[in-house]
Amino acid sequence: MSVGVVRETASGERRVALVPKVVASLVGKKVPVIVEEGAGLGALIPDSEYLDAGATIGDPYSADVVLRVSPPSDTEIGALRSGQKLIGFLSPRNADNKIGALRDAGVEAYAVEAIPRISRAQVMDALSSQANVSGYKSVIVAADLSTRFFPMLTTAAGTVKPATALILGVGVAGLQALATAKRLGARTTGYDVRPEVAEQVRSVGAQWLDLGIDAAGEGGYARELTEDERAQQQQALEDAIKGFDVVITTALVPGRPAPRLVTAAAVEGMKPGSVIVDLAGETGGNCELTEPGQTVVKHDVTITSPLNLPATMPEHASELYAKNLFALIDLMLDESGSLAPDFEDEVIAAACVTRDKEPSA
Ligand code: NAD
Repeated sequence: MSVGVVRETASGERRVALVPKVVASLVGKKVPVIVEEGAGLGALIPDSEYLDAGATIGDPYSADVVLRVSPPSDTEIGALRSGQKLIGFLSPRNADNKIGALRDAGVEAYAVEAIPRISRAQVMDALSSQANVSGYKSVIVAADLSTRFFPMLTTAAGTVKPATALILGVGVAGLQALATAKRLGARTTGYDVRPEVAEQVRSVGAQWLDLGIDAAGEGGYARELTEDERAQQQQALEDAIKGFDVVITTALVPGRPAPRLVTAAAVEGMKPGSVIVDLAGETGGNCELTEPGQTVVKHDVTITSPLNLPATMPEHASELYAKNLFALIDLMLDESGSLAPDFEDEVIAAACVTRDKEPSA
């Protein structure tokens, strides 16, 4: 059984599916690794480091399992052969996903987004590892765009008050954003529609904003709000947001457009110089004035919505992702080092999105 690592081609994608340390672990398990020439360059990893770790440089599509980060293009799907396995982010919940094309090509595809969020699978949870990167970087972006300091400063020229930061949507990215903003010295507040999050918010030294809406859905995710709840939430947030220098939004509902939390009127009510970082741009954005992928200034408030923050930290994002993939591959290996995915295993069954030309359940 061999593994191939492709050179990513999506615009702005600098991550790579395996890093040399993880290549060495696979080679140690008698799994040959074939890395496409230059696959690691975006993450500043030269081919020589892969060679030192025991990989060969060659055609990744000649391997039994092809590993990648971003979803494949049509050309890349064309390079896969029937019966070959593919593991990567495949956006299975996006309407324009490539799952149908992969199925037609006879590929056995595993989407890392579909790995269940259960304790046993935490080590392979690529959504979480990359959300941690996004949450951290969102605060750095906010601090960079801010016209104000984050920490309280006591200087000979006077004292500067700490910035106030509100994080809307406290899943993995939001919790990391709260912790990072706190480390930079901001006064932090978190808000979510899942009430159980309050304890986690407080555990990272932040205040909990309670708007009295409980929209806990299935599997630990939030459900979509009703129209009444949405109006109630938008009005309450319009009042709350005025007091914050920085708002970072991460709210998502699986398979649905991003909930609109921040209205144009809420932006207008913010102090000039304030910053909104909207991490939900890929599904339309949490702020009414967001332009996905752009940075705009509206009512003297800077609103930015970067689309792939993990790709801006390719070294650590790739390292964490590679460890996630190693854990998933390890789960599929039998004692002789052959690939033998057990479809009775709930992690494998859920992650596999196409098999034997049929979409998996
Ligand atoms: P996510 O990226 O899907 O969503 C981000 C946050 O937005 C969520 O906390 C959600 O509740 C919130 N949200 C949705 N609609 C909202 C609205 N209208 N207003 C305010 N907030 C709103 O979340 P995620 O980071 O992928 O986490 C999803 C779940 O998975 C969580 O319950 C998390 O604890 C759980 N999880 C479990 C594990 C594990 O045990 N292995 C690992 C990671 C995450």
